[in-house]
Amino acid sequence: MNRPFNFCAGPAALPEAVLQQAGGELLDWRGTGLSVMEMSHRSKEFVAIADTAERDLRALMGITDDYAVLFLQGGATAQFSAVPLNLLRGAARADYVNTGQWSIKAIAEARKYCEVNVVASSEAERFMTVPPQASWNVSADAAYLHYTPNETIGGLEFGWTPDVAVPLVADMSSTILSRPVDVSRFGAIYAGAQKNIGPAGLVIVIVRRDLLGAPDACTPAVLDWSLQAANASMYNTPPTFSIYLAGLVFQWLQGQGGLAVVGERNRRKAEVLYGYIDGSDFYGNPVEVASRSWMNVPFTLADAALEKPFLTEAKAAGLLNLEGHRSVGGMRASIYNALGIDAVDALIGFMRDFAARRG
Ligand SMILES: *Cc1c(COP(=O)(O)O)cnc(C)c1O
Repeated sequence: MNRPFNFCAGPAALPEAVLQQAGGELLDWRGTGLSVMEMSHRSKEFVAIADTAERDLRALMGITDDYAVLFLQGGATAQFSAVPLNLLRGAARADYVNTGQWSIKAIAEARKYCEVNVVASSEAERFMTVPPQASWNVSADAAYLHYTPNETIGGLEFGWTPDVAVPLVADMSSTILSRPVDVSRFGAIYAGAQKNIGPAGLVIVIVRRDLLGAPDACTPAVLDWSLQAANASMYNTPPTFSIYLAGLVFQWLQGQGGLAVVGERNRRKAEVLYGYIDGSDFYGNPVEVASRSWMNVPFTLADAALEKPFLTEAKAAGLLNLEGHRSVGGMRASIYNALGIDAVDALIGFMRDFAARRG
């Protein structure tokens, strides 16, 4: 069966080879007679699945033993609360950069726990730019600085890692594993799985161990990174099937050659798609060129009345989920790791044909 290309922003496409393998193992995981979904999270089989997933993620991202890796529930949104609860460590203030809708949500949640200093915002530029670090107004007494390396809705990505004196915290939900990163630059990284890792229901937290040990007294147990680290993410039941599937994705990524190879492919995919959009009068992308996302490519049609027929015809051509986020409209092609250059070529072929017929 030829599956359609799925450009959904999340839950997003998964590698077909991973789905095939999971399908083959669904009723009987390696002779156990059980689906992974039916196993105790404390069984030796499942503990081995979780340990392997953690080991493979560490290898892919180059995560040293100075960091704990947690596999939790609650999505990135739960981590919007977990970040201040675990990292304020008695401080009254945290610094946040505002580059779009996910930054805004992280800031709103942090304001429940502390004073938030917004060090820079590109809201006045309708989030089409990343504010240069030289313009940031950092506070002297912030516990940490939080930013969103890739704004999934706006399609705005930092092509660089901020350099700050306090622990750097990143919501990498839609950019993790899309290219190599130097984890040692970060105090904490978190990412919901359903963009570039695996199924929904899992969020991964990577946190420097020296930042653990002083959660706020009111921190719910499930959000307490120190408690979860001490219990190998099994203080309560972790999202077992999502962890298993994420583990298969990590092995698939290793089979692709690791993040350097995957990152180069992603760079090329984005370059080709933006190149086509920029060269056309029919389509446009308003984001500052240096800050365009490799993973989420929003675009507009010169005539907004053609959006509906565009989506209908794209779907008929096997190109799914190209509508932009409900808050911004337009189109958005999310081209995570599971989509190859063939998906981008197919999309461009369709866009070119549509423009020729309707332009
Ligand atoms: C999708 C997304 C979130 C929200 O994730 P949930 O799993 O729905 O909580 C947060 N931040 C970014 C950057 C995202 O892309």
